[in-house]
Amino acid sequence: MTATILFAARPDRWAEYEPHLRAALDAHGLDYRLGPAFPPEEVDYIVYAPNSEVQDFTPYTRAKAVLNLWAGVEHVAPNPTLKIPLARMVGGGLTEGMVEWVTGHTLRHHLGMDAHIVNPTHAWAPVVPPMASERPVTILGLGELGLACAQALRGLGFPVSGWARTPKEVAGITTHHGPEGLTAALSGAQVVILLLPNTPATENTLNAETLALTAPGAFVINPGRGTLIDDDALIAALDSGQIGHATLDVFRTEPLPPDHPFWAHPKVTVTPHIASETRPGPASAVIAENVRRGEAGAPFLHLVDRDAGY
Ligand code: NDP
Repeated sequence: MTATILFAARPDRWAEYEPHLRAALDAHGLDYRLGPAFPPEEVDYIVYAPNSEVQDFTPYTRAKAVLNLWAGVEHVAPNPTLKIPLARMVGGGLTEGMVEWVTGHTLRHHLGMDAHIVNPTHAWAPVVPPMASERPVTILGLGELGLACAQALRGLGFPVSGWARTPKEVAGITTHHGPEGLTAALSGAQVVILLLPNTPATENTLNAETLALTAPGAFVINPGRGTLIDDDALIAALDSGQIGHATLDVFRTEPLPPDHPFWAHPKVTVTPHIASETRPGPASAVIAENVRRGEAGAPFLHLVDRDAGY
């Protein structure tokens, strides 16, 4: 049987993805039709981005799965019209990109690079940074991305603690879990990296109370989601010096509105949601593997737990 695969993402992404998707599907020898428009009742798989025009899945009566191109699923997992399995993007270049972004921004703060990059008075003012081994890092979220970042930073010598919803054992990393584990995870951290999903349970994980647990002057790095942080509490912690700097890639409203205080705050770095982007080549291999599985009656990879919301 020919599998009909709908590409339901922003129209400008189609030309970019089409050759990669065809190459990956051909590599599995699949019999398929692929395109950005089909009658809904003919569609077997929906390659999906949550900003696509498709928001009502009801007409897709024979579809077997929605294959999300993004890691984050907060805009599709709660959709009540979605009754078929939802797989999210794992791999697809996201892990490598996130490791690079997180490592780069951690080292920027750890080494105090800014003092040398912008030095208009040409001051010769040597300040020797501590060794990585003297700079405890905490990663909130030990999933695909958090764990890879934890291991990369551990490899550079940082003592790394991590926090997840469920218990974990990871060589070389101190782990905590559940609401009761958050205090221990944050206590004394000099760098806090957020790689949690946006769910009702993770909203305002960093708030006035939890920001007070870090070492004074700690750096906050958020490539997770804007909802993870109480913005007002963060600004207050930056102003008091409890937090030394915040590097933020994600926000409650994106693009970040021009009048948001983060733009002008001297201790905030804003990046425009670029920490890690799904790459069409490797992402197409992930999509094609799930289509292959669907056609073979095998379980899909990377299924979302819709009850947990991620
Ligand atoms: P995963 O689902 O693999 O990992 C999520 C982690 O968060 C897991 O360790 C999970 O715990 C933990 N977690 C979830 N809920 C809670 C909770 N209530 N309390 C404590 N821990 C919790 O996701 P990924 O690592 O693939 O991605 C993480 C997030 O990164 C995405 O959801 C997305 O928001 C963001 N992202 C941002 C990008 C960017 O460019 N800025 C790019 C890609 C992703 P457990 O292991 O126990 O399940």
